Amino acid sequence: MNDPRITPPLPPDFDAVIVGAGFAGLYMLHKLREAGFTAHVFEAGDGVGGTWYWNRYPGARCDIESVDYSYSFSPELEQEWQWTERYPRQPEILAYLNHVADRFDLRRDIDLNTRVTAAHFDEHAGLWRIETDRGQPVTARHCVMATGCLSVPKAPELPGIERFAGATYLTAAWPKDGVDFTGLRVGVIGTGSTAIQVIPQVARQAKHLTVFQRTANFSVPARNGPLPAAEQQRIKAGYPDRRALSRQSLFGIPVAVPEAPRRTRDIPPAELNQTLETLWAQGGAMSLLAAAPDVLVDPEANARVAEFVRRKIRATVKDPDLAERLCPSTHPLGTKRLCLDTEYYETFNRDNVTLVDLRATPIETLTEHGLRTREAEYRLDALIFATGFDAMTGALLAMDIRGRNGRSLREAWADGPHTYLGLASAGFPNLFLITGPQSPSVFTNMVMSIEQHVDWIADCLAYLRARGIRCIEASAPAQAQWEAHVAAVADATLMPQADSWYVGANVPGKPRVFMAYLGGLGPYRQRCDEVAAQGYAGFELTPAAATV
Ligand code: NAP
Repeated sequence: MNDPRITPPLPPDFDAVIVGAGFAGLYMLHKLREAGFTAHVFEAGDGVGGTWYWNRYPGARCDIESVDYSYSFSPELEQEWQWTERYPRQPEILAYLNHVADRFDLRRDIDLNTRVTAAHFDEHAGLWRIETDRGQPVTARHCVMATGCLSVPKAPELPGIERFAGATYLTAAWPKDGVDFTGLRVGVIGTGSTAIQVIPQVARQAKHLTVFQRTANFSVPARNGPLPAAEQQRIKAGYPDRRALSRQSLFGIPVAVPEAPRRTRDIPPAELNQTLETLWAQGGAMSLLAAAPDVLVDPEANARVAEFVRRKIRATVKDPDLAERLCPSTHPLGTKRLCLDTEYYETFNRDNVTLVDLRATPIETLTEHGLRTREAEYRLDALIFATGFDAMTGALLAMDIRGRNGRSLREAWADGPHTYLGLASAGFPNLFLITGPQSPSVFTNMVMSIEQHVDWIADCLAYLRARGIRCIEASAPAQAQWEAHVAAVADATLMPQADSWYVGANVPGKPRVFMAYLGGLGPYRQRCDEVAAQGYAGFELTPAAATV
């Protein structure tokens, strides 16, 4: 038997194991290999792509423009890939990520169909032991979680589901071959970003569509369309400046942080209306928020912009009673993700679409033939759950992650996530989180945030290697300070008010904590860079010779 006190630890199988092969995992692999590290990726799906591999539902599309929702690390890639539309459809993004995997020869270091079930830190050896649902455990000096913020779907627990004779579909686990709803009576539960994309598509195909709405949501038209070649060429010619602007921006899109912004409440109504009309005509949810960031802070500013959107809903939906039911009233605009749509509100003018307000008439049960609310039974051949995700922490806590003293992440995060910069968690040495909780992540163009984290992590690993440092760990005081800052920034906004997935309100029993950093990507990047420049301030670094 090996005595860990006298047996020198074996070198790890890899410098780093990366969990997930979406935007984050693919770039992390590329970046680490380029820096001369050995790295290996485990991916649960049978293809690369992460979010864009799983979410194949009709109408799935990104709400950030194609030219911005793409990697910036390779100027050649930037120039050679041709986007076809202003907002990219899921198949196009998936094709892009497959192209990236091939172009940078990433596949040879990726195990598909392999779900990581556990990762335990071995304090004696100073490495992670990673277990999967296939094959032998592997060891790695570092473990990088590229598991995504919205990757664990949350289907509602509805009584009677086992009795329902029709087909059920989860938008985030959509059949690869698609679904033909022609001639069917279809129900959709949910009216979030996903449902708002699904509903117009299914309405065109189904015999009848019933939308079960619990909370009416704000949505802004995408104004999607083909991306003309000349326009794309012009953007590509200016990519360095565009990307630089995005990196410094609040939301990771090429909109400058206003230097001395006017308060929305001080703008005369006619002028504000004109500005909002222009933004509405241009389309885009992020640009609306970026144009008036104080809507997320000032209730009066928010009320004015929210009322503008409600006027648009009333002007679009012909039946005034229906329009009123579609008008959000339970939360300030933007405190649940502001949705982006193509003909969402217009869809309710169709004869084959019904809206059921679940607040007025809650679901009682599924029956053999459909869904019964307190007032009526709706006969359905198929039911689509567009009911969201166990966001931000769901994928991390689904694994049995154990750090120092065998303490599990589930235990450490029982009252909500605890991180330093959203990149690391005290008690879990050499574990990195890409776009982890308490980083800007879901409040930004994810690709920009992912690149920022990947670059930071790769630089960090190079720093440790150059100095013979075996372990890096967030210090508890630095973590506490960061968390206090994250909470203070959130509390200064309207964001915590809504029962959103940002606070875990959609998952029964989840601690109510605002889980993202709202300080903006540019300022956050600066903070991370300062931490690195100060020799990883707020982290404890342990040299190779010392006991971990
Ligand atoms: P979501 O925003 O959490 O929406 C889930 C919907 O299902 C909500 O309307 C929710 O109602 C409803 N719901 C959940 N459980 C229910 C229940 N038991 N009974 C009745 N209704 C229920 O989830 P999502 O639409 O999948 O979007 C999640 C996030 O993914 C978005 O916010 C966005 O960040 C991202 N996303 C982006 C895009 C894009 O880029 N265009 C597209 C899709 C998703 P309540 O509001 O009352 O909880």
